[in-house]
Amino acid sequence: MRDTFEVRAHDGAGRLGELTVPRAGVTVETPALLPVVNPHVQSVEPARLERVFGAEIIITNSYIIHGSDTLYEPAREEGLAELLDFSGAIMTDSGSFQLAEYGDIDVTTAEILAFQREIGSHIATPVDIPTPPDADREQAVAEWETTRERLGVAAEMDTGEMLVTAPVQGGVHVDVRERAGSEAAATGLDVFPIGAVVPLMNEYRFRELVEVVAAAKRGLPVDAPVHLFGAGHPMMFALAAALGCDLFDSAAYALYARDDRYLTVRGTEHLDELAYFPCECPTCSGHTPAELRGMDDDDRHRLLAEHNLAVSFGEVRRVRQAIRRGNLFELLETRTRGHPALLDGYRTLLDYADQLEANDPVSKDAFFYLSAESARRPEVIRHHRRLARLDVPEELVVTAGAPGESGWRLVPPFGPVPPTLSDVYPLTAELPDRIDDAAYEAAVDGVRALVEAHPDATVELRHDGWPKRALERAPDTVTVARLGGPEADTDSRDDGGS
Ligand SMILES: [Zn+2]
Repeated sequence: MRDTFEVRAHDGAGRLGELTVPRAGVTVETPALLPVVNPHVQSVEPARLERVFGAEIIITNSYIIHGSDTLYEPAREEGLAELLDFSGAIMTDSGSFQLAEYGDIDVTTAEILAFQREIGSHIATPVDIPTPPDADREQAVAEWETTRERLGVAAEMDTGEMLVTAPVQGGVHVDVRERAGSEAAATGLDVFPIGAVVPLMNEYRFRELVEVVAAAKRGLPVDAPVHLFGAGHPMMFALAAALGCDLFDSAAYALYARDDRYLTVRGTEHLDELAYFPCECPTCSGHTPAELRGMDDDDRHRLLAEHNLAVSFGEVRRVRQAIRRGNLFELLETRTRGHPALLDGYRTLLDYADQLEANDPVSKDAFFYLSAESARRPEVIRHHRRLARLDVPEELVVTAGAPGESGWRLVPPFGPVPPTLSDVYPLTAELPDRIDDAAYEAAVDGVRALVEAHPDATVELRHDGWPKRALERAPDTVTVARLGGPEADTDSRDDGGS
């Protein structure tokens, strides 16, 4: 891996970065959206993608150009930058998608990489094997081994300044994905697409998508630039970025437009069902849905594609701003309420809070507790870990609400908080007055973490009417007492069913 990617800021596993593309002589800010440019049909021309939408990088298909009577020679003579009229970075795909669709293609990795170099691609792709999600483990392993051999061929070739991708495959088998990640990184190639996830996204299988990406990321070095291949719907950009994906490509903006489908950050609408455009872009503020329905196909599809691009690039900027501000999780809370399957994806992401915590900044601006999922954020895990390293009095009383004589408070969802940390992020979190059980439960889990790390301390927990289900999570050695008198004291725990 050449030294072409630099991370500037983190939020969870999400990051702002810069990908230097030497052959293009440009640096691309990430997370970045690569509009897919079909070399034959362009609903929005590349120059317009650059000028109006701010695209710094696009992706096109070298295999289509290779097989085209009208494009093959012009691409070799003029080069892609001139052929497409685009001055930013140009990535090329290799025909792997066609391989997956039609079962066979007529070029080798060596041939298509040489062709990509010849036509002036800035980031080229070998012919990998996209293992479909429903393939069994044996098939996933066998196909990955073929892909790995081809990556070996690619790594041996003289590709000059052109960056070369090393796709990570493995279907939905997380051990194969993880191994593929580390073996792809070992090739020394430059950019790491996570491949064959389009069926998962099309079928709203976001739980498996998160598992697959998290596995690939475990195999890859933390500073490797990662491309989520085919992730073109803006409703999932925040989730993909939170997993640590840096590049997304969108064919959706054009494909959906041709089907009269309208992208939003909350999902997809059909033009026929829209009475109003819920958007501020020029298409939507300059027209009504009824006007668009009255237009001819070409005009309507172009305007819808431009709306789809506007909302997609807008969401990428929003994700970048959220990472910069340290509130990507708050954005995720909102976005993943757009569809129950996305919420499954977010809940699965939080299963990997450990993995997300590794690079999460210690301090951010604010922590907003917005749902039961907030109780599982990496900041909560980090606080539980920190409790193990703190000095703890031999006899410790932790008190909900106002601090007791020890000064330690019991703070949902974090748990015990010493006086020295009470003004420190994330313990300054803002919660609603009516909090859910998950916040209390996570706080009692914090008590458990503290007791496990300091088995000699005597710990008493004083609460002001916390739910029984949460208090039952306290270790047996902890005395649980209710604030406000002895009769209140004989609370919940006694009849609590151990
Ligand atoms: Zn719009």
